[in-house]
Amino acid sequence: MSLRLGLVGWPVGHSLSPRIFDLLAERLKVKLSYCAIAVTAGELAGELASLAEDGYAGVNVTIPHKQAAARLVDALTPEAERIGAVNTVRFSGGKSKGHNTDAAGFLDALGLLEIGPKGLDAVVFGAGGAARAVGWALGKARARKVRFSARRPAEAAKLARELGAMFEETAFSAGESRPAGLWVNATPLGMDGFPDESPAEKFAGCAAFDLVYGRETAFLKQARAAGARTQGGFAMLVFQALRGWEFWTKPLGEARRLRLASEIVKELR
Ligand code: NAP
Repeated sequence: MSLRLGLVGWPVGHSLSPRIFDLLAERLKVKLSYCAIAVTAGELAGELASLAEDGYAGVNVTIPHKQAAARLVDALTPEAERIGAVNTVRFSGGKSKGHNTDAAGFLDALGLLEIGPKGLDAVVFGAGGAARAVGWALGKARARKVRFSARRPAEAAKLARELGAMFEETAFSAGESRPAGLWVNATPLGMDGFPDESPAEKFAGCAAFDLVYGRETAFLKQARAAGARTQGGFAMLVFQALRGWEFWTKPLGEARRLRLASEIVKELR
């Protein structure tokens, strides 16, 4: 029997998830049908219910529905509850459970930069859903300091306050960027629409992690020119997908996850 999975979002035409899951199914020798479904905000609740009825084992959720999905599912994992956003839903026994794999996917990909998050001093650009997942992951992994720098300072301050209340060992703050061990771009700058833009005028970190994927962004170019180590968003995208697969099926184990991720990232490039 074929496993039925999918992705709901708006738009979804550009999504790499169907390709990632096809590559994964090929490697695991699993029969899988994975389709991307364009769903408006008003259709989300009905669509989730009908996908469950149609025998889907689960779905990924992408922009702009991650927060709404967290309110619609029957239950949440602790990660999803605290991050307040769901990117993976599992249907089982007539119930839906929401999970967030962006945080784990970020930490997995950070490992490729050979950076340990414990004790780290980081600056995160942006104060949206991805910045929140990254901040949560860094707090959970006991980073020392996390500073959010966003074009709306009040949003950055709110995020720092909320995460600060969750983690005792990490000092969350908001404001202008400053030199740090890791700089993370969690804004869309670098994507289509803003291809040559970076969230910072000048790079001042030891390493750069850009959540934007599919190109060498201006942020990564600045970091490379400054002699910093860099990581683009592809690896996180693949790791969060593999973590979702594990939520729907069973754990892959660290070594297998790493091997599959590096094979899939190579194929996507
Ligand atoms: P989001 O919730 O919309 O938040 C985006 C953040 O960037 C907000 O703080 C927003 O500020 C800021 N921003 C937007 N346009 C900006 C601009 N022109 N200049 C400066 N700041 C700007 O989006 P998200 O879900 O956090 O996603 C952010 C990025 O991460 C996207 O590119 C997404 O594709 C990427 N992402 C990648 C992965 C991965 O696996 N690689 C996973 C998740 C997300 P305002 O609130 O003022 O608009």
